[in-house]
Amino acid sequence: MRGVLSSAKSRSLPLLGAHVSTAGGVAEAPARAAAIGANVIQIFTKQVNRWAEREIDAETASSFRAACDRDGVRIAGSHDSYLINLASPAPALRQKSYRSFCHELERCRVLELDFLVSHPGNATDGDRGAGLRRNAEAIRRALSEVEGVTPVLLEATAGQGTALGASFEELAELIERVGPAFEDRLGICIDTAHVFAAGYDIARNYDRVMASLERIVGLERVLLFHVNDSKTALGSRVDRHEELGKGELGAEAFRHLMRDARFAEVPKVIETPKGDDVVRADRRNLRFLRRCSNRA
Ligand SMILES: [Zn+2]
Ligand SMILES: [Zn+2]
Repeated sequence: MRGVLSSAKSRSLPLLGAHVSTAGGVAEAPARAAAIGANVIQIFTKQVNRWAEREIDAETASSFRAACDRDGVRIAGSHDSYLINLASPAPALRQKSYRSFCHELERCRVLELDFLVSHPGNATDGDRGAGLRRNAEAIRRALSEVEGVTPVLLEATAGQGTALGASFEELAELIERVGPAFEDRLGICIDTAHVFAAGYDIARNYDRVMASLERIVGLERVLLFHVNDSKTALGSRVDRHEELGKGELGAEAFRHLMRDARFAEVPKVIETPKGDDVVRADRRNLRFLRRCSNRA
């Protein structure tokens, strides 16, 4: 992001933030970061459950970047539409998804975003290998078609239904299939609730899980964390976020993560339930995370 704060003190703060609303327009989002004491934001750049696209004009983009500067947002990224399924065996849906994904990348370019989180798709016909190939092929084609520098971060999924990307092996395969031409534009996002629901016990076996992530994918590929507790049990394959410390993961997992020096520079974003008072809930969860990093 261009909005890097100048003071050394601000630079040394951990990169912590939340998914924030863009109600009123994308340029309204950075102020919501300031309200909760965050220096990282994740947004949707369109209505996430609709196919309709939105174009961001130059004026909107420049107000957005000015707002990031003003509000101390150092990292800003987006999450792609929930409708997109780049792995679909149905050509029409795959093509629609592809066009929509290209629009996502285009908005990232215009807004100069630092990341685009993308859920691996669903192999609805049960053929996971073919699904992974289609998903990777679509990403490779989109990265060559749409100009820009924003990296695409494949998010680890809970593995609900036929969702791809619930194992480190599948994430590694996607990266490998997209290929070395886009080496610098591809990373992964580890969602703590998703990997737990997918069967990785980062609460009790943090070191072992990270060792396997390192071996299979490589820790340098982890460019973002979604920090969420899980309402659902280990291996449930059901994706339900919970407030930090109140779910099945518990505080211990977050202590491990926040104290892991290998990820000190990796931005961490909460997507925890917000209840009636968004600001209060986000502040509470971010405070919880900060406490987890204290060794005292
Ligand atoms: Zn997530
Ligand atoms: Zn989720």
